[in-house]
Amino acid sequence: MNAALLSVESVSKHFGGFAALSDVSLAVNTGERLGIIGPNGSGKTTLINCISGALRGDRGVIRFDNQIVSSLAPHQRSRLGIARSFQIPRPFVSMTLLDNIAVPLEFATQSKDVYGEAHTLLAQMGLGEKATAKPTELTQVDLRKLELARALATRPRLLILDEVMAGLAASEVDEVLDIVMAVSANGVAIIMIEHIMRAIMRFSERVVCLNAGQIVAEAAPGAIVQDPMVRRIYLGA
Ligand code: ADP
Ligand code: MG
Repeated sequence: MNAALLSVESVSKHFGGFAALSDVSLAVNTGERLGIIGPNGSGKTTLINCISGALRGDRGVIRFDNQIVSSLAPHQRSRLGIARSFQIPRPFVSMTLLDNIAVPLEFATQSKDVYGEAHTLLAQMGLGEKATAKPTELTQVDLRKLELARALATRPRLLILDEVMAGLAASEVDEVLDIVMAVSANGVAIIMIEHIMRAIMRFSERVVCLNAGQIVAEAAPGAIVQDPMVRRIYLGA
């Protein structure tokens, strides 16, 4: 069977009378890199919340690896291989970086060497030297790398990144993107929500644009910026 890894089928989500998502459908294949753009308030984080289980859609179905996951709790979806970062990083502030990784790693794997693996993961993020530091001692870019490492610690097959690069300097964006691309090279499917178009262009194999809770365009990165709808609503052209 050649089904998509993730399949979002006609998902809607209302907050009171307000439609944050209306009939959203998309699919992500194994190992694919999907970029999501869209103005503030267009429903990007709500979509990620529905996929990861932080929220339940009020209509539609979400399948992961051929299994319906729409009514599963976040930790159950995590066990199946869905991981996400948070727009505002959520480390355990009183724990060392090493423990921040060891906790989700222990939850997700049968590893006999949780700390060894946590160390390896930190080193891959360039945080190896800071293993015994606390998150409060980190710079913004290192906090984003920690957020990435925490998501990767659950050994996902689908990683969802919610504006992990927001507010970073250009060179830091490249640093984080290098890490993201290395994760992709290991076969992990990645959905990346991002406003930084340069990052979206380098990252994406395909880009989806959300506006007012609906998918209004879907194209290759070179074509999405030419899309008249995207230019009007998102790029302000
Ligand atoms: P984006 O991530 O694209 O900026 P969000 O998905 O965070 O957008 O929000 C989409 C819309 O839904 C916004 O208008 C936001 O105010 C609203 N919204 C998001 N979460 C909630 C919530 N828990 N309760 C009420 N309204 C919400
Ligand atoms: Mg958001």
